[in-house]
Amino acid sequence: VGHRIVQGGSLFNKSTLIDQSVIDGIESLCDLAPLHNPAHIEGIKASIALFGPNVPQVAVFDNAFHSTMPPEAYMFALPYEYYEKYKIRKYGFHGTSHRFVSKETIKFLGLDPENSKVIVAHLGNGSSISAVVNGKCVDTSMGLTPLEGLVMGTRSGDLDPAVLEYICNKENISVSEMVRILNKESGLLGLSKGLSSDFRDLNEAMNNGNPDAKRAIDCLCYRIIKYIGSYVAAMNGVDAIAFTGGIGENAALVRKTVVDNLSYLGITLDEEANNERGEDRIISTPDSKVTVAVIPTNEELAICQETAALVKNQK
Ligand code: AMP
Repeated sequence: VGHRIVQGGSLFNKSTLIDQSVIDGIESLCDLAPLHNPAHIEGIKASIALFGPNVPQVAVFDNAFHSTMPPEAYMFALPYEYYEKYKIRKYGFHGTSHRFVSKETIKFLGLDPENSKVIVAHLGNGSSISAVVNGKCVDTSMGLTPLEGLVMGTRSGDLDPAVLEYICNKENISVSEMVRILNKESGLLGLSKGLSSDFRDLNEAMNNGNPDAKRAIDCLCYRIIKYIGSYVAAMNGVDAIAFTGGIGENAALVRKTVVDNLSYLGITLDEEANNERGEDRIISTPDSKVTVAVIPTNEELAICQETAALVKNQK
């Protein structure tokens, strides 16, 4: 049985067969992922109770793929003692998806796995983007928690950290209440004045002239454009950009808005291909300097593959 585990912190940087010490490790990271890790432990325990001790259980960590990031990418510019004492750093999430999609992109486009620069934009209710050099992650937009980075369904993504104290004082609310608002009431939902966290609703409202929906979608696209630009800089180039996730796979408007703003890289969109639906496909023109593709993610398949490979190796 393969379990998706959101936070492996610095304890786990690859998929692992589960024993009591692994359960204890996941438990010790609960305060870094309070919504996820406690539920994972319940799931593991239920699974062991159901299938018995002879069925191997495997933990597949959401941050494992990002463990290859260099310190300059994962360090926050805080007093270093917080890293030493509490391991405060960028961990990144959606790693199973970023690993799967970057691999698929390299395979689908026939890139050289040992000489390739790929950006994966996983855009869904939760969204993150990663820079992958030769199959290894060198940067990603989510941080210590999944709150950092892009504008998401209900999460704010990046903001000036001083905003927290300012709003807490003005509204007389606690820091934890503010963090809840940043996680649950911000992003597309917040920007659209509570209209919806769902892209489809906002797209429809925008088409009907709703300015709140337009604001939310504009901010979503703008942040993606900025991140792609910064990751091209981080990698000193890019060979391919892959869109995935519910929005990345389905929202032609978002892909068009983003790709039209990458003309400085010599990228041109094939409008017809962008409007088509389907499986793995290229949406840039043949003469585009960088290939842009839509590569549907499949986290369940990736977890199955990791689990099967690990169990096989043990036999
Ligand atoms: P995910 O978290 O990957 O399931 O993605 C959820 C997001 O994808 C939501 O914002 C949906 O509105 C969006 N989405 C799903 N299907 C479509 C679609 N056909 N067109 C546009 N957006 C979609």
